[in-house]
Amino acid sequence: MPEGLAASRVQVLGIVQGVGFRPFIFQLAEAHRLYGHVANTASGVDIHVEGAPAQVEAFIGAISTQAPPLAQITSVASQGVAPGHYTEFQIIPSRQGESRSALISPDVSICTDCLAEMQDPKDRRHGYPFINCTNCGPRYTIIDDVPYDRPKTSMRSFRMCLSCQTEYDNPRDRRFHAQPNACDDCGPQIMLEGVDAKPLWGAAAVTETARLLQDGQIVAVKGLGGYHLAVDATNNKAVERLRRRKQREEKPLALMAPDLETIRRFALIDTDEAEVLTSPQRPIVLLRKRRSNTIAPAVSPRNAWYGVMLPYTPLHYLLLAKGFTALVMTSGNLSEEPIAIANPDARERLAPIADALLTHDREIYLRCDDSIVRKTDGVTRFLRRSRGYVPVPVFLHQRHPSVLACGAELKNTVCILKEDRAFVSQHIGDLENLATYEFFQATIDHLLRVLDVTPEVLACDLHPDYLSTRYARERDDLPLVQVQHHHAHVVSVMAENHLDGPVIGLALDGTGYGLDGTIWGGEVLIAEAGRFDRAAYLTPVPMPGSAAAIKEPWRMAVSYLAHTFDERFYDLDIPFLSTIERRQAEILVTMGQRGLNAPLTSSLGRLFDGIAALVGLRHQVAFEGQAAMELEMAIGPDDAGEYDYGWKTVGEGRRIEVAPIIEGVVADLVQGTPTARISRRFHATLKALFTALCVDIRDQTGLDRVALSGGVFQNAVLSTALARRLEQNGFQVYTQRLVPPNDGGLSLGQALAAAAIHEGAG
Ligand code: ZN
Ligand code: ZN
Ligand code: FE
Repeated sequence: MPEGLAASRVQVLGIVQGVGFRPFIFQLAEAHRLYGHVANTASGVDIHVEGAPAQVEAFIGAISTQAPPLAQITSVASQGVAPGHYTEFQIIPSRQGESRSALISPDVSICTDCLAEMQDPKDRRHGYPFINCTNCGPRYTIIDDVPYDRPKTSMRSFRMCLSCQTEYDNPRDRRFHAQPNACDDCGPQIMLEGVDAKPLWGAAAVTETARLLQDGQIVAVKGLGGYHLAVDATNNKAVERLRRRKQREEKPLALMAPDLETIRRFALIDTDEAEVLTSPQRPIVLLRKRRSNTIAPAVSPRNAWYGVMLPYTPLHYLLLAKGFTALVMTSGNLSEEPIAIANPDARERLAPIADALLTHDREIYLRCDDSIVRKTDGVTRFLRRSRGYVPVPVFLHQRHPSVLACGAELKNTVCILKEDRAFVSQHIGDLENLATYEFFQATIDHLLRVLDVTPEVLACDLHPDYLSTRYARERDDLPLVQVQHHHAHVVSVMAENHLDGPVIGLALDGTGYGLDGTIWGGEVLIAEAGRFDRAAYLTPVPMPGSAAAIKEPWRMAVSYLAHTFDERFYDLDIPFLSTIERRQAEILVTMGQRGLNAPLTSSLGRLFDGIAALVGLRHQVAFEGQAAMELEMAIGPDDAGEYDYGWKTVGEGRRIEVAPIIEGVVADLVQGTPTARISRRFHATLKALFTALCVDIRDQTGLDRVALSGGVFQNAVLSTALARRLEQNGFQVYTQRLVPPNDGGLSLGQALAAAAIHEGAG
């Protein structure tokens, strides 16, 4: 045995498969002149190295610091072992059936190496739209089973040519075991299908697509997780035509621009935003509009923000290089339906919208929409967590039984709890039509398969009519736990922050079914994972017309006025009353008084809506939360004080009064106070009110940890100001950074709450 030979066994856990980890280890061992082997295992990568002691030590240290870009290491554990006297370092095949529970990487944007090759006229993949390597390309959307191997992906129908196979087999190559490896000779091809023209292939298809777009036409473009509908973002007529055909009236349309420089021509970017824009996840990032720019007004009407992303597939880069300032790249669907992924489906569903189809023959197995984020105070906040991030789990601090949580009705995601990890699915959408419901079921089946999970417990919302609830109830093979909506919101924050209860949970939200059958949404809970008390809530008021009151915020305005002033409100001298018909308003008031299709709600989202309508921002909305968003955007810069606020003790809880706030707003309206000031005052009132409530609850209970969740926290002004004020008052504040605070993050809380309730019961 040579002098000073050390040997170590190293186990690395995390996302370390399908991300070029074994070749990285191979090359790292070579660099340190170490012998041994590396293999994939059930939960990660197993390494044996031996050589000079200092080199072994340096090797182990470098694993975390030099890991490949897509790897996410959760632990590196090493122990000294007896040397095996190896004479080389080898990548050895994984033992059969062992890698089923390894983590799958999300889809990621093309890396700089591949981009440089694609743009190099001398490279054999010059201009090839499916170039990829172990550091980049599709993953989650092309896998239909584990272990992650080419035959389990939609690349199975393409046989690698000799050049590609040689790269694939060479541990020193960037494409070693890159499952989607391909080239123009052996891999997928793009094709442009026009209305009646002959199909075009390859570079000709890209050139013609660009020409059609420059001509103002709408082209459906197949991407990573589904089709986009593309149109020249500087052509207002074209954008308006897209809106008409897609039946999408006002919701902002996402933009894709070639690079940061070009984005700066129409939007403001700070360093945080630049960082997330250029990250391999390539989400849509909300950016403030530049005052004057060449983007068509129809892209984001009445909005201070654009949603912008950089190209992320090679094909995007080829298209954007044709001289566009930006393309609208909105999901390829009719309003409210799931995004199209299969070619025949796209032809059928997108034909009435798109003038042409830029498609390809690499199948998408699982739909995945673009993610949407906003940077606030240096933190990435999700509005939608999907492509690029899914299926990276939320790592928990405890092990749990396997739970399948079915999520909410709107912005649905599902969550699968497995041991100490929670896998939140991609964005599924609003479960309001059959197509989305089918996508919901397909996602559940797919995730259970690729995560190799057999659930022991089912979780769903308390709302009896949610399709996700019905799905859960129809499955009678498993114990079912129904979790109250706002309890789930609070547990969602607790889960990602590794908190055990109890905490003070502020669930400020749009709509959720309450324990008493009314609609909750302005809730302060004292919560643990398995139980909660309702410590405070906004005074319930009627929602005249139920769902109609969400689409028509003026109904809520009438309801709050009637609540605050009774019949006398007709005599108020405010502009709002001249914009509505008194007879209609009287009907709403009667509905509320008699409880006719007017459920009671304590929702803060509805209070935002009602005030937005009252100040004249809008009477109707095209999408949920629009009025509240406009009230936030209307906020003025000056410090304008607060409205009166307070609460009454009712039983065990506190009923927060809304009347003083409405009185304050009305007094301002009578005096002609500008909307900017009213909005500022309203936000300041909420900040003061909820801080005072937390102080009161702390005095009573001693709790000083506050968890913030619910759709209202998409409002960056309120979240930032409230968190700061709470901290100034000595609270520890916890917010959502890994999943959205809206219903997109609900399934995470559902899963954890159900696990706790189930374990408590068992
Ligand atoms: Zn690459
Ligand atoms: Zn090839
Ligand atoms: Fe909610």
